[in-house]
Amino acid sequence: MLRSPLIYLSEADWLRRLLMDWKIARRVALRFVAGERLADAILAVRVLNERSMNTTLNLLGEDTDTPKKAQKITQDIIAILDAIEESGVRSNISIKLTQLGLKQDENLCSENLVRILTHARRLKTFVRIDMEDSSCIDATMRLYWRMRNEHGFNNVGMVIQSYLYRSDEDTKTLLSGDTRIRMVKGAYDEPSEIAYPKKKDVDKAFDRLVEMMLDTARTETSPLIGDDGKWPPITAVATHDQARIDYAIAYSQKTGVPKNKMEFQMLYGIRRETQESLAAEGYPVRIYVPYGTEWFPYFMRRLAERPANLWFFVSSYFRS
Ligand SMILES: Cc1cc2nc3c(=O)[nH]c(=O)nc-3n(C[C@H](O)[C@H](O)[C@H](O)COP(=O)(O)OP(=O)(O)OC[C@H]3O[C@@H](n4cnc5c(N)ncnc54)[C@H](O)[C@@H]3O)c2cc1C
Repeated sequence: MLRSPLIYLSEADWLRRLLMDWKIARRVALRFVAGERLADAILAVRVLNERSMNTTLNLLGEDTDTPKKAQKITQDIIAILDAIEESGVRSNISIKLTQLGLKQDENLCSENLVRILTHARRLKTFVRIDMEDSSCIDATMRLYWRMRNEHGFNNVGMVIQSYLYRSDEDTKTLLSGDTRIRMVKGAYDEPSEIAYPKKKDVDKAFDRLVEMMLDTARTETSPLIGDDGKWPPITAVATHDQARIDYAIAYSQKTGVPKNKMEFQMLYGIRRETQESLAAEGYPVRIYVPYGTEWFPYFMRRLAERPANLWFFVSSYFRS
């Protein structure tokens, strides 16, 4: 019930300005965000690495509105790659194409993406392209294939959202090109013309698509997770939903997919005990570690996913 209004508000500039200046909001947001500086994020990554988990670092920010800002963010993302290399942590990166100017100019976005992928390739690091709302999907797919086919990059992977009707087709196409895929349910508010309105259908699609990925992972040539923790396998199951995790484990055991041909991914600060118990069982676990000052839309989507987070936020206000 609260999901749609909260996702709608995640784009409201007035609320962004209000919350970002508010100490309590910042404190609550920091439950889901590793800090505002790159050094904070590297510290959080070290702690997770010590607990046998890999990470993917994400500089928060989306919908960049000028070419100059998109170029600055590109430079900042390249700095993350250097920081990973210098600190020796087990991490790759996740990026959003609207950070790189996707909504202004697809060619500019493409140039910025090429710069990032070139630098990452030099450092033997993998880059995941996050999936944003449905208005961005066709352009994101186009740029992904341009990077693979025209520029020859193979250090790049994609995200599929199981709430979309189109995802069966998209998953098949991506798997035919050995794409490393992160499967998620989807974090945006999409209309019923293009997305399942009911949670049980989103969950069913999630399991079906994970099966497709695990069937590909079973083949002999399908890549294992990299020894340095940077390269993911084909199959990344990104959810905090215990039933989805159990389903993926049961299907992988039934069909004989080894643990190092799949990984579980979760968000920083969410269901930490599940993160740790999967890692203790020997499953590769990767934590998505966001950092930066532009935490507002990310924070609002996390509130939307779980009303209890909103109550925690409200009660922090009254406790302060
Ligand atoms: C690593 C990773 C990367 C992602 N990348 C993308 C992306 O590129 N594009 C995209 O659209 N979406 C992305 N998402 C978000 C995803 O689409 C979902 O919105 C989010 O994961 C919540 O769905 P769920 O699968 O955890 O299941 P749900 O059914 O929403 O949740 C299952 C259970 O997990 C716990 N939980 C879930 N969310 C929260 C929360 N915010 N706070 C506290 N507990 C919670 C609760 O116990 C809940 O009952 C990503 C998620 C992960 C884990």
